[in-house]
Amino acid sequence: MNAGNVETAIAKGEQIHHLVSDLFPICRSITGDGVRATLNILRQYIPLETFEVPSGTPVFDWVVPKEWNIRDAYIKNRAGERIVDFRRSNLHVLNYSTPVNRQVSLEELKNHLHYLPEHPDWIPYRTSYYKEDWGFCVSYNQYKALQDESYEVFIDTTLEPGSLTYGEVYLPGESRDEVLISTHVCHPSLANDNLSSIGVMTFLIRELMERKLRYSYRFIFIPGTIGAITWLAQNKDNVSQVRHGLVASLLGDTGVFHYKRSRSGNAEIDQVAEYVLNRHSPHNRIFDFIPYGYDERQFCSPGFNLPMGSLTRTTYGEYVEYHTSADNLEFVKASSLEESLDLYGQVIKILESNKAYINLNPYCEPQLGKRGLYDLKGGDNQGKNFQMALLWVLSLSDGDHNLLEIAKRSAIDFNTISFAAGRLEDAGLLKVKN
Ligand code: ZN
Repeated sequence: MNAGNVETAIAKGEQIHHLVSDLFPICRSITGDGVRATLNILRQYIPLETFEVPSGTPVFDWVVPKEWNIRDAYIKNRAGERIVDFRRSNLHVLNYSTPVNRQVSLEELKNHLHYLPEHPDWIPYRTSYYKEDWGFCVSYNQYKALQDESYEVFIDTTLEPGSLTYGEVYLPGESRDEVLISTHVCHPSLANDNLSSIGVMTFLIRELMERKLRYSYRFIFIPGTIGAITWLAQNKDNVSQVRHGLVASLLGDTGVFHYKRSRSGNAEIDQVAEYVLNRHSPHNRIFDFIPYGYDERQFCSPGFNLPMGSLTRTTYGEYVEYHTSADNLEFVKASSLEESLDLYGQVIKILESNKAYINLNPYCEPQLGKRGLYDLKGGDNQGKNFQMALLWVLSLSDGDHNLLEIAKRSAIDFNTISFAAGRLEDAGLLKVKN
């Protein structure tokens, strides 16, 4: 058995979970070697190109920050024991913490500790990107165990001019019109937020690489907020190619899917995502754009107003494990990852074939029988459905209705409508509206 056979023998979800597990230990942030190490691993799977934007580069109203890197950190008690240890969890250090190396009193230490009394075993994830500060995140149990003594605090970080790193995969299609899919890569050891999506997008890219594509696809692996702003500043003149887009995050928990519409609310991607989610489960949820959340905030800002929605499972803040050490490798399920991959695949499949057609024989119905398209013998439901699909497609192919609209109006499955359109096109009765 060669390597390829082994790969197909393992379920997709397990493969994605394996990648998530490989990425999990890396301490990522909005800049630094953690993002580079992450993208290096992804490069083993996909043709990823990386970009470095120097610190100090103005990006719209922001500036690319100094680069942050960390080697080690701990709090030691008087006995010299590491009672809080970065090596055990990178969440223990306030992300972007400035370096520190000194003795502090318990009172001073407490001013620099973050914890969650409501979940005494969990470590919170906290950042301080734009205010220079040092700190540790600890479990409440660790906090309560502190004695009134002095502690050695050591954070071995650097915050220096460097660059912000992001990755991009471009898959050319027949058209230069683009589908843009963005996912954030800036969180340290948190599995659902957002290694789940990094893993699912990596495998989605591998699937698309094997297909002939109508659209060109651009996947960007970027730090949240500042990374999206930086990417948009670098690509300001190219985004007019974007026809549809999605922000991918939080794809590994067992919750239902959530789709947040684009700012305009009636883009084709909104219609396609709603259709797929509604058919997948009545429990999935669709909601309108709000200017808060992930990087749709930047992509949908009024200057860009890109047709991009956000497709997640349980949304941020709606699961208690969010931004804590409980968002770990057990929280993310292989079956959920595989289901998310499949759902994104369905959205793309419809985008790829959702065209509007022109009926080339619009004066009365064409005679389907002489073209082998009218089969009275096939009287089963599937056959009748196909016959009805032919009639609906012919009727609504006036250039104003795309196939998804015909599927919704006829209540016939999109795949049947799309198949019928293909047969009619083969028979010379339809042409794609340009
Ligand atoms: Zn987050």
